[in-house]
Amino acid sequence: MVRRRVKAKARPPEGEPSGNVTRMRTKVCMVGDGAVGKSSLVRRYVLDVFDDSYLRTLGTKVLKKTIDLEFPRDRIAIQLTATIWDIMGHTEFRHLVADTYFAGAKGILAVADLTRRETLVNLAGWIDGVRQVAGNVPVLMVVNKGDLSDRATFGPAEVREVAEGFGCPHVTTSAKTGKMVPAAFRILGTMIAAAGLGLSADETAAPIAARST
Ligand code: GDP
Ligand code: MG
Repeated sequence: MVRRRVKAKARPPEGEPSGNVTRMRTKVCMVGDGAVGKSSLVRRYVLDVFDDSYLRTLGTKVLKKTIDLEFPRDRIAIQLTATIWDIMGHTEFRHLVADTYFAGAKGILAVADLTRRETLVNLAGWIDGVRQVAGNVPVLMVVNKGDLSDRATFGPAEVREVAEGFGCPHVTTSAKTGKMVPAAFRILGTMIAAAGLGLSADETAAPIAARST
């Protein structure tokens, strides 16, 4: 009998280069009112499916996804493994779970529904809530249900104004068609990686976000 020794592959510690790829881990939180499409966006991004039924998220669901990012100007390639926390959308819930779920968040996808204006207005409360716990982490504002533009309850000018108020970029997505969904997560990933490494995200994140609206 031949015995083979299997060497355990040494994994580089977090944030250290392996070859020329730097591995990082991060926690991303989905926030926004109920039924704006948070769970649908995560499902579309991680599993590439869309389901018309509304399954109200009970408690929290955590999914994982690896995002490959490049910062050509700094000649850095990053493999970002994100745990994406999908949080139940009740406003009251925010106060109950804030500490547990927002602690350690490194980036936020703040989602509004194009067909319900109040979901855009309510983003302020969500973003303030997260920032109280997680600090001034990168936020990407997402206007979802872009496929329902004929039922839009607010326009691009208002979106820009709200985003400027938060000091964050914004994108319009559709979890139904998939439009701009991977891009949204990539933009946030770029912002997180840039913040973590002290690089400028402007070169990559901002132009993509600007083009999408
Ligand atoms: P959550 O409560 O924020 O997690 O919202 P869900 O992801 O459960 O979505 C709420 C409802 O909106 C469901 O019926 C979805 O099928 C629907 N929905 C989500 N995203 C979109 C979208 O981009 N376009 C359309 N037309 N419907 C969507
Ligand atoms: Mg949900």
